[in-house]
Amino acid sequence: CGIVGYVGNNKSLEVLLGGLKRLEYRGYDSAGVAIIDEAGTLGTRKRAGKLQMLLDDLAEAPLGNGATGIGHTRWATHGGPTDVNAHPHLSRDSKLALIHNGIIENFSELKNELLAEGATFASETDTEVAALLVGREYEKTGDLTQALRGVVARLEGAFTLLAVHEDQPGVVVGARRNSPLVIGLGDGENFLGSDVAAFVEFTRRAVAIGQDQIVTIRPDSVVVTDFDGNAVEVEEFDIAWDASA
Ligand code: GLU
Repeated sequence: CGIVGYVGNNKSLEVLLGGLKRLEYRGYDSAGVAIIDEAGTLGTRKRAGKLQMLLDDLAEAPLGNGATGIGHTRWATHGGPTDVNAHPHLSRDSKLALIHNGIIENFSELKNELLAEGATFASETDTEVAALLVGREYEKTGDLTQALRGVVARLEGAFTLLAVHEDQPGVVVGARRNSPLVIGLGDGENFLGSDVAAFVEFTRRAVAIGQDQIVTIRPDSVVVTDFDGNAVEVEEFDIAWDASA
């Protein structure tokens, strides 16, 4: 339902939780975050219920500071609103975390493919299928952008996806089809959001991502391509002051 991504300096948790707070107006039933901490370890926390449940969980079991992270508020479509079904979802080796807005219409066909390979699923979501597929691609390519590109063309339906990988700190990748994704441009930091509310507190410089495009953000760069890997020229716009209301 709501998506935020961040790469920059060691304040990712603050940015993600602030973004999720401002995305609450969309409605949701669960919330979660994944952060690559200063030691380079990927950690996730996710809880059904209000954002406060996630905050309580983080107070009990804190995540380290980190420069790279993703956050999600879920509106369940496949699988009930439980802690396990909340996003992020992890790859088989638990090194990749992925969040998703929308519905992957052909998920059961893809799930059967993975089951035939011996994969096991922790959740009932369509999203976990994408997490396992992107994780499988990462094992082949060793590159998060390529891994995402290797999967998205196969996904039918509506999706905004963001992913991070423990072996690629300082990188957040995103893709979209029939579901929105916007880049926020910062100074030595960059943002992704399902809408500008996710990052308007931190920057008013934004770039809309077009249909069937992939974006890779690092602290000092933003690269957008289509699903085939062709470069796409981006156009910056200023977020109107009113957008923060
Ligand atoms: N289809 C996904 C799920 O049920 C994502 C729902 C959403 O957009 O929040 O987990």
